Amino acid sequence: MSGQHGEARSQHDADPLVASPATAKGLGQAPPSDSGGRERRYVIRGGAVMSMDPNVGDFEVADVLVEGKKIGAIRPRIHAPGADEIDARGRIVVPGFVDTHHHQFETALRAFLANGLLINDGSGSPNADPSYIEYVLQRFARAYRPQDVHINTLFAGLSQLDAGVTTVHDVSQIHHSPDHTDAAVQALIDTGRRSAFGYFEGDGRAGSRYPQDAHRIRNQWFSSDDQLVSMVMGGEIHQPPEVYTRSWGIARELDLPIAAHAVSGAGHRPIIDDLARGTGGVGNDIGFGPDVLLIHMTGMSDLAWQRARDAGVHVSLAFPIEMHMRHGVPPILKMQELGMEPSLSSDVETTMAADPFTLMRSALTMQRMVVNQMVLEQGDFTPPDEWPTPAPDTPSLLTVRDVLRYATVNGAEHLRLDRKAGSLTPGKEADIVLLDATALNVAPLNSVPGAVVTLMDRTNVETVIVAGKIRKWKGRLVDADLDRLRQELEASRDHLFRAVGIRQDLYAYS
Ligand SMILES: [Zn+2]
Repeated sequence: MSGQHGEARSQHDADPLVASPATAKGLGQAPPSDSGGRERRYVIRGGAVMSMDPNVGDFEVADVLVEGKKIGAIRPRIHAPGADEIDARGRIVVPGFVDTHHHQFETALRAFLANGLLINDGSGSPNADPSYIEYVLQRFARAYRPQDVHINTLFAGLSQLDAGVTTVHDVSQIHHSPDHTDAAVQALIDTGRRSAFGYFEGDGRAGSRYPQDAHRIRNQWFSSDDQLVSMVMGGEIHQPPEVYTRSWGIARELDLPIAAHAVSGAGHRPIIDDLARGTGGVGNDIGFGPDVLLIHMTGMSDLAWQRARDAGVHVSLAFPIEMHMRHGVPPILKMQELGMEPSLSSDVETTMAADPFTLMRSALTMQRMVVNQMVLEQGDFTPPDEWPTPAPDTPSLLTVRDVLRYATVNGAEHLRLDRKAGSLTPGKEADIVLLDATALNVAPLNSVPGAVVTLMDRTNVETVIVAGKIRKWKGRLVDADLDRLRQELEASRDHLFRAVGIRQDLYAYS
């Protein structure tokens, strides 16, 4: 310190490029101990609270009382004697984000298919080879051992938890054996976030038990409703008809939600039409219902859409992946036309990031690109008609609030978890994210939903709470030895490449 101003030196005189240690991020406050425990109470004090529940509303400044696993109250100036406090001044307090379709077992293959298409199109281009179906599902997936399933699933989960995704549907397509299944479920439990375990098929080897093992899995792992991990039944329609007939039947027998991909280019359209008519499967009697979650829905018929709407089918859109890997145009305009709303999904980290900000911004910009161009083309690009007033039947532009709703409440509803999660509502479980609105890429704060959707990224995710338990505190995941886990994941990656005979090369596949 220079002595120029002596002891009277004010904060304004301090060198603005040198942080004072007392205000450095991460210092000065410990997390409430035993958070999420029964009877444990703490207050998240003074944040900008965006509840995503219309009955609770938004607050420029409010407090959130957490009692045990649940949200006790949300309002300004909560009086809670004896409760610990989390200082949320300068923070945005939102519900944890929900991803309704993520293939967590593929983490070891991150960015392997950065340019990859869904299926090799025969063009001979580097986008076509390597491609997803041929390399990931038909080659790498077969080499997974149960321990690979565990570390890949765990690492993906911790990464998304770190990014504020407190609920996931893990579309787990790696059930070569019951041991693989148990490893996947154990990894979701070990992650400590809210997870819908999607029990999908494996490679169909001798000893695999899909789909009938669903009965055992349900009894062994999911007999209680009062736990973070729940079950979804995979009912893929690219499986032989007798298999998806059984999986849909088992789902309905066990009262589990059913999930399936429906995508252009994979032969799904006629099968989806049969299901839409209620004449699907071997006995011609399986069909749509509000228990069905369809993924992508690119290239499906108007009939299928109409029946999906009428039957209350849910739809998960993976905007970045659909645009990038040739699934087709994300059918958001069709959904708007029918008064439907999607949830959002990350799909595969072989090809794109799995954070919620990427998903929300992709949805917003894709839809707005299409509609904005539609409006421009209602004019003739020449004065005086170069900026037309939209015709009455023009779809409305998505807003930041729309995509926030897709990424929170809609996701919870589509996974049948809206009773517990998806919004900040007293009585729901406390899945809460604190976002730093004082950060360099965000300040000054002028719009809460605007800042979250258009400015923020995972570096702004400061604190993450799942069912009252603090999992990330001031920028760092707690209870996770990430160095050790990364080494385990790298060892798994090395095994997988070796087992399928693909050379590791940091430049060749992209
Ligand atoms: Zn998928």
